[in-house]
Amino acid sequence: MVTSTTRKIDELGRIMLTKELREAMNWKAGDSLNLSYTGAGVLLTTSQPSCIFCGCSTGLCELDGRQICCNCVKKIQNL
Ligand SMILES: [Zn+2]
Repeated sequence: MVTSTTRKIDELGRIMLTKELREAMNWKAGDSLNLSYTGAGVLLTTSQPSCIFCGCSTGLCELDGRQICCNCVKKIQNL
């Protein structure tokens, strides 16, 4: 796989990710990605659902479209 490529930003601020890159990362249309600003530029990573309270990404339940982990659900139940 090519590890570096140059792309132009279009007039709407978009850049196209190559098919090769999307397939290598298993990214499909509609997937969410995180953009993180680093000292060297921007890092694209797969967005994973996480608990709105603690940021945990395991044992999640959904409530009104938001994710809450089992530990935070237990804490709320004990209030
Ligand atoms: Zn939590």
